[in-house]
Amino acid sequence: MDFIDLKSQQARIKPQLDARMAKVLSHGAYIMGPEIEELEARLAAYANVKYCISCSSGTDALLIALMAIGVKPGDEILTTPFTFMATGEMIALAGAKPTFVDIDARTYNMDPAQLEARITPRTRAIVPVSLYGQCADMDAINAIGRRHGIPVIEDAAQSFGATYKGRRSCGLSDLACTSFFPSKPLGAYGDGGACFTNDETLAKLMREVRNHGQERRYYHVRLGLNGRLDTLQAAILLAKMDILDDEIAARERLGARYSKLFREKSGEKIRTPHIEAHNTSPYAQYTVEVAEREAVQAKLQRAGVPTAVHYPVPLTLQPVFRELGHGPGSFPVAESAAQRVLSLPMHPYLSEKDQELVVDSVVKAVQG
Ligand SMILES: *Cc1c(COP(=O)(O)O)cnc(C)c1O
Repeated sequence: MDFIDLKSQQARIKPQLDARMAKVLSHGAYIMGPEIEELEARLAAYANVKYCISCSSGTDALLIALMAIGVKPGDEILTTPFTFMATGEMIALAGAKPTFVDIDARTYNMDPAQLEARITPRTRAIVPVSLYGQCADMDAINAIGRRHGIPVIEDAAQSFGATYKGRRSCGLSDLACTSFFPSKPLGAYGDGGACFTNDETLAKLMREVRNHGQERRYYHVRLGLNGRLDTLQAAILLAKMDILDDEIAARERLGARYSKLFREKSGEKIRTPHIEAHNTSPYAQYTVEVAEREAVQAKLQRAGVPTAVHYPVPLTLQPVFRELGHGPGSFPVAESAAQRVLSLPMHPYLSEKDQELVVDSVVKAVQG
């Protein structure tokens, strides 16, 4: 059994992928070819946002967004400690100080109730992460951002295809960044990402930053990077967009079925994901909580069930951020989650039989 099966999807759309890639090889515009604009229009329409700026990865999407808002040394940027390294890493790389807000224990996302107390005159942006595919409480976070005149950047690397109160992830705040890493809900065959905004000025800035700060060719008005998406990756993503709705529906169905099976077979012993009533999740990860995780993981490995941990160490306890001075116990909710979370096989082509095997194996592993 695969943790994430990318082969079934490829088999399903092989002719479309081949045709799309062959077209790029024949026109030869490998950098910023016509597929880039086609994809950006398609992604913007999907997320119901005016502007989409494709780029080289989810990590670069975050850096591009932060550079576009003009982050400078001494700025503080608020985010969650319970995320992939890139979120805090790009804040620091952009020159700002990552400043953390603990998470809500049920959703694993930034707790809006703890956010406002962390705002100082130096706070320059708020970067909530939509973890495992579920959006953070964006209305509450946006309201706080607006009150203090601080932009909100959704790290939507895991939530492309999610909805929040009927609106799509990536269209919920001033800026949003997503990733097309192969295992994300919309994945390329290599690295890729995108930034989203409804603000024309920010869109122009992000387009410039993506391409060495060029306003026009060889005329550089600001610092930027080589943050472009490859045309070939755009072509691959376009082929995948055709089946995205169907795949998201399969993910939602499988996620709900996992939770139902766990309820039936284990009662309350295994904590399943809590998805707020106003949210839908593509389950970039289907993540449960268990005690004695390492032992459970070892038993599952012996049973042929692959698992992963997202993430074992909160950013606040990462060696690279030691000088921020957060000792153990500073962010108790994130630290507790980091010790207990366990992600199970999840992808749109997971069979019901394999899913039952996963659930039975987890229940058995937890029982002893
Ligand atoms: C994957 C991920 C990123 C980085 O995306 P890449 O495309 O791998 O650079 C950033 N933030 C979160 C929350 C992620 O899951």
